[in-house]
Amino acid sequence: MPRPPRRDTRPVRLRQVQVGGGAPLTVQSMTKTDTRDAAATLAEIGRLATAGCEIIRLAVPDEEAARALAAIAPHSPIPVIADIHFDHRLALTALAGGVDGLRLNPGNIRDAAKVREVVRAAAGRRVPIRIGVNAGSLDPAMAAKHGGVTAEALAESALAEVALLEREGFQDIKIAVKAFDLDLMMEATRLVAARCPYPLHLGVTEAGLPEEGIVRSAIGIGALLLAGLGDTLRVSLTGDAAEEVAAGIRILRSVDLRRGGPIIVSCPTCGRCQIPLQEMAREVARRTRDLTAPLQIAVMGCAVNGPGEARQADFGIAGGREGGLVFRKGKVVRTLPARDLVDGLLDEIKGFLDDEGKTDGQG
Ligand code: SF4
Repeated sequence: MPRPPRRDTRPVRLRQVQVGGGAPLTVQSMTKTDTRDAAATLAEIGRLATAGCEIIRLAVPDEEAARALAAIAPHSPIPVIADIHFDHRLALTALAGGVDGLRLNPGNIRDAAKVREVVRAAAGRRVPIRIGVNAGSLDPAMAAKHGGVTAEALAESALAEVALLEREGFQDIKIAVKAFDLDLMMEATRLVAARCPYPLHLGVTEAGLPEEGIVRSAIGIGALLLAGLGDTLRVSLTGDAAEEVAAGIRILRSVDLRRGGPIIVSCPTCGRCQIPLQEMAREVARRTRDLTAPLQIAVMGCAVNGPGEARQADFGIAGGREGGLVFRKGKVVRTLPARDLVDGLLDEIKGFLDDEGKTDGQG
């Protein structure tokens, strides 16, 4: 079944990063440091940016945290979004501090006059606003109207806020409708997508500990991405934010929305396998992780699927009883004992990249 084209969306810009309008999908995360501690928060942003985070969101629980943004946002290597709940004045302070984006929760800032005040200040600074609706903090009036926290209720909450912003002539909008329940999150996101042109931030909220949360997020976010929806995403995990970033990148790579760097195609191994495949796959991953060229590298255990997969990949190895084969662009280029297979494979990759002038950090 062919994949639907990506939804056409109205782009917004956060500093140098475009979201929507056909831009590459971006991976976001949130700092877990105390925002009032600007030095610790900046160090955390630097660490996450190095891990691949492209947009970072910071909690702004009080005025002191809002004021600290002036010491953080201008020094951050990636765009900073202030996450605002309950008190619109925190958004005003955050804007004055130079943040690149705001997230407003329509579920807990319900006074339209206060929202308008924030919108005007954001427009003056050309700062986009994400309308972030969450099943856990849905406006009670909306829940009452729809008989509970339904997909319609979530979507209507987001779209009512959109209408409020649009009445101010403001269109630098992103939208997220998040829930832990995948059916709810996905249906609400589809409803919003069908009813407005704004880019979508995808996420499964409170997804849990990494071992469960990554799978849950990959299913929910991945299903929407495969349906052509989504412009930016965050994987929410109870754990290290760097894991959120890595998971987000892996989700994008799994659905072919992010290219660059090696992708390892490796078999699960079984009773036929005669080589230490798991260790070999890990070694190949470790020794190629700094490459930026988009390469598919197959690491296969035996002659059943091995030669086929290894031939289809850019490079590959396929184990055998006496050792194995090294493939380069579909051809067998070496026959080696098992202990030399990884070195032989990496030699071939290095030779190819040298020829192409793309050598970068293999070792
Ligand atoms: S490629 Fe060979 S070793 Fe790997 S899972 Fe398939 S049959 Fe087993």
